[in-house]
Amino acid sequence: DGTAPPALEVRDVTVRFAGLTALDGVGFTVEPGSVHALIGPNGAGKSTCFNVLSGVYRATSGSVRFGDAELTGLPPHRVAALGIARTFQNIALSPHLSVRDNLMLGRHRLTRAGFVAAGLRLPSARGEAARHSGRVAEIAAFAGLADLLDCPVGLLPYGVRKRVELARALCVEPRLLLLDEPVAGMNGGERRDMAGLIVAVRESLGISILLVEHDMGMVMRLADTVTVLDFGRRIATGPPERVQDDPEVVRAYLGA
Ligand code: ADP
Ligand code: MG
Repeated sequence: DGTAPPALEVRDVTVRFAGLTALDGVGFTVEPGSVHALIGPNGAGKSTCFNVLSGVYRATSGSVRFGDAELTGLPPHRVAALGIARTFQNIALSPHLSVRDNLMLGRHRLTRAGFVAAGLRLPSARGEAARHSGRVAEIAAFAGLADLLDCPVGLLPYGVRKRVELARALCVEPRLLLLDEPVAGMNGGERRDMAGLIVAVRESLGISILLVEHDMGMVMRLADTVTVLDFGRRIATGPPERVQDDPEVVRAYLGA
């Protein structure tokens, strides 16, 4: 590939539910090829923001752009077709199917959406299945799953299943990955493996990452830029070291 992903620009996004403003004029930019973390106390609006970006919720006002493409108001499959993939906080894999078949299902979304990534040449009808399963095997190897392709997902440890989910998101050849708490519920070793995989996704594949994560050590280690939300408002954006010491951020986290 080699072409940088476009920037994701979130501009002045407001989301109102009955009687509650979940996001209040929030804006930030995910720079091409960067890891951007979205943090904040419970109820700050992080999941709402993810749901707006992936087309699950519609913003009350404001806009979201991905390069030249306007995402505002697009349904999830159209957002996916533009090269934005997400994982869910709770795993959404088919437990009875093998790792390979779960990844092939992820791949199927790509064909259905008709999205053709730069560098992915249009396969001939005959070569299509072989091409897809070849790419699936490559992605599995990248995610450390090469020896587990035939294993039913339901038999795998939690930390490995989370890596299968990330691999499945990679199967749509995204240029931006939205990760919702990728290390939640993991033990130390699993966290290290996932962190290594996230670094590799950014550095080897050049994919931009927007990360919601509660583990501050993980955020400090992985993120180039951090945006902090509190009660639906953006209270800080900047490099992790600076945001960590921001008085308003400290206040939000201490609840003072
Ligand atoms: P976070 O992910 O940062 O914990 P959320 O985005 O889940 O926060 O929630 C932000 C606020 O919006 C909360 O007060 C939550 O109760 C509210 N909220 C989220 N989704 C809905 C919804 N579908 N309907 C009504 N209120 C919602
Ligand atoms: Mg949430």
